[in-house]
Amino acid sequence: MIRLLGAAFTTAADGDQRDDAARAQVSSRLGIAPAWAVATQVHEATVAVATGPGSVGEADGIVTTTPGLPLAVRTADCAGVVLHGEGAVGVAHAGWRGAANGIASAVAEAMAAADAPAAGAVIGPHIGPCCFEVGPEVLEAFPDAQAITSWGTPSVDLAAAIEAELDPVPLRRTGGCTRCGAGWMSHRADGTPARLAAIGWVL
Ligand SMILES: [Zn+2]
Repeated sequence: MIRLLGAAFTTAADGDQRDDAARAQVSSRLGIAPAWAVATQVHEATVAVATGPGSVGEADGIVTTTPGLPLAVRTADCAGVVLHGEGAVGVAHAGWRGAANGIASAVAEAMAAADAPAAGAVIGPHIGPCCFEVGPEVLEAFPDAQAITSWGTPSVDLAAAIEAELDPVPLRRTGGCTRCGAGWMSHRADGTPARLAAIGWVL
């Protein structure tokens, strides 16, 4: 597990975070409540405000000002992003569609609307530009975040895209490439249904 102030990103060793037992164990290690606010993720840019645990419905961003309420998105190649403001936290699930639709900045806007603008953000393990091979239609959506895979084909750098989107809010990068790195979960690598979690809570 990657542990930061008010944020954490799980690894494969922490288990499938769709699973209650795995979530309980992670919560216990972090000293946070075991009941998280989560969303049915649909790869869009809708942000929900959570006031208690459980599902907020279909959304790819969640924001709260409730102390002690963990928020989480679940990923396996997509990026989880945690944003912190004074008295607020937000999480975003950003695959290429979410990033192209501005999910991270939508979360930042929702925090600003709650009078707690994001002061910093952290991006967790996700498929890196080394492995995120995309077709021309995806490449076109990221004119400023194009890269090349380790085997020489066009790819997208999700962290660069999100960093540009959030500017001037600084984005810290953690974790590695989920597909070619060891110890993550990657849908592209092996089709796993299991998921990592990006968790945030109010400081
Ligand atoms: Zn890679």
